Amino acid sequence: MTVFSARRDKLRKLLKQNSLAALLVTDERNVTYLTGFTGDSSYLLVTLAKKSPDLLLTDGRYTEQLGDECPDLPIAVRKTGVAMAPFTAEHVAAHKLTSLGIESDALSISTFEKLRTALDSTQLALTESLVESLREIKDKGEIEEIRGAIRIAEQAFGVIRHALRPGRSEKEIADELEYQIRLFGGTCGAFPSIIGVGPRAALPHGRPIAESKIGDYDFVLIDWGARGRLYHSDLTRVLTTGKLLPKLEKVYRVVLAAQKAAIAAIRPGAIMHDVDAAARSVIARAGFGPAFSHSLGHGIGLAVHEQPRLAPEQKRPLAAGMVVTVEPGIYLPGWGGVRIEDDVLVTRDGHEVLTSVPKELEECVV
Ligand code: ZN
Ligand code: ZN
Repeated sequence: MTVFSARRDKLRKLLKQNSLAALLVTDERNVTYLTGFTGDSSYLLVTLAKKSPDLLLTDGRYTEQLGDECPDLPIAVRKTGVAMAPFTAEHVAAHKLTSLGIESDALSISTFEKLRTALDSTQLALTESLVESLREIKDKGEIEEIRGAIRIAEQAFGVIRHALRPGRSEKEIADELEYQIRLFGGTCGAFPSIIGVGPRAALPHGRPIAESKIGDYDFVLIDWGARGRLYHSDLTRVLTTGKLLPKLEKVYRVVLAAQKAAIAAIRPGAIMHDVDAAARSVIARAGFGPAFSHSLGHGIGLAVHEQPRLAPEQKRPLAAGMVVTVEPGIYLPGWGGVRIEDDVLVTRDGHEVLTSVPKELEECVV
């Protein structure tokens, strides 16, 4: 049994619990998670029936890659000119499935309509987050891949930090980070880096621009991550090339204290909103409550943003094996923003901070 077939067996248990005979997995990352296949435009049919094995519906571009990545998985190759919906319907009929779960988060309305038309004698059940809930808990191999993605991101940041000079633009830093990530063995950046100088650091998801340069203002916020082979990392640090000004120092201390309080609250069984509240209350007590305008963190894995979410409305408990970001921030329009983000593994008896870029106040000054 491979790690992938074991995951499909876990999914089968979920299907049973949800009274589903089968699930059509259309989300690319879910397909990868369940098969190891890294191509796209392919659906995976997972069924409860013992005699009819799981089947990957794919096309001719991928037959060779499939032989390498998942040699044991039965595949059906769609011929050019045959559309995916009728092709899917054909195999659903061959499996004698009268009902089929559909991933409602992963289909456009038009694709869904095509499937519904092609599968007119099959009852479709909309499902939510079945595979995603399995993906929340990382196994050893996945944790190693995330550690690798973190290592790459940190090495790339080391180069950037060293070369940070007044006059360099946000865009130059973003481009250089992407290049360094690839040099250190990453596939690419986990997402387009967010580089915000001064007031532009108040945009939690600002796009780096060439006109905005280090030294124009006191500090720069850098939010970056790497994609290793398939898994992601996600970090944020604030740096200054000048003197540490009192306002930055004040805001930074509050954010750092909030982040440490949240990390300290992470352990199996801790309720997600309580971890969020641990940070939020520190920021509110310091008088910056409304300036922390997003949730505390998110899961990372095959996607850079995935479940679970550390947010005020999340009532579920954390569990060992989850990997989450912890990223409180304070954003003051016209002045700028401070966010500090690390990646944290929930362990059996607490947590492990996987990221190691220094974050104490004096480390901000380059
Ligand atoms: Zn980030
Ligand atoms: Zn993040």
